Amino acid sequence: MDEDQDIDNVGRERSKGQIYLDDAPATRAALEAHPTMWPRIFSDVPKGWDAEVAQALTELARLSAETGVEIAVVQIKSKLAELRIYLDVAEDSVGPLEEAGSTPLSTHFRSSAQPGSVRERANAIADAAAARCATRCERCGADAVRVNKGGWLVIACPTHARS
Ligand SMILES: [Zn+2]
Repeated sequence: MDEDQDIDNVGRERSKGQIYLDDAPATRAALEAHPTMWPRIFSDVPKGWDAEVAQALTELARLSAETGVEIAVVQIKSKLAELRIYLDVAEDSVGPLEEAGSTPLSTHFRSSAQPGSVRERANAIADAAAARCATRCERCGADAVRVNKGGWLVIACPTHARS
C-alpha cells in the first residue's frame, strides 16, 4: 500500500497533505506518534506555535482513541494571525453552521456540534490551542500581540514586530 494514501471510514481516498515541519519538531514528533493526525491539505505550523499544535494533536489523538471516533486533521495554519486547526470528525453529530470566532477582518464559521459529542470536544481542543496562540509570537513563542506588518496581520512579540 502506498503509505501516502489510505481510505477513510466513508471510503474516500485520503492523501497526506504536505506540511512544513522544519521549524516544528514537536508537531513532527506528535504526527509521527499519531500518523492518523497527519493533515490532508498543505499545512504550515509557525515555529512559535509548535508546542501548542503538538499538544492539540496529542489531545485529539487521545480523544479519538478513547471514543473510537475517527478525527482527521484537514489543515493546520495561521489565518489572519489566528491558529486554525480544521477537523473532520467521523461522527453523526453535525449541526448547522455556527460562528466559531470573529476578528474585525473575518468571521470563522464551522459546523456546530451536539452537546457532549466527540465533535464538540474536538472543537474545544482546537479552540483552546488557538486561544493559547492568540498571545504568542508566531516566530518565537514569546508574549505577543496582533500587529499589522505591511498589510499582513501577524501575532508578534516586540522584537519580531519590527523585523
Ligand atoms: Zn518573537
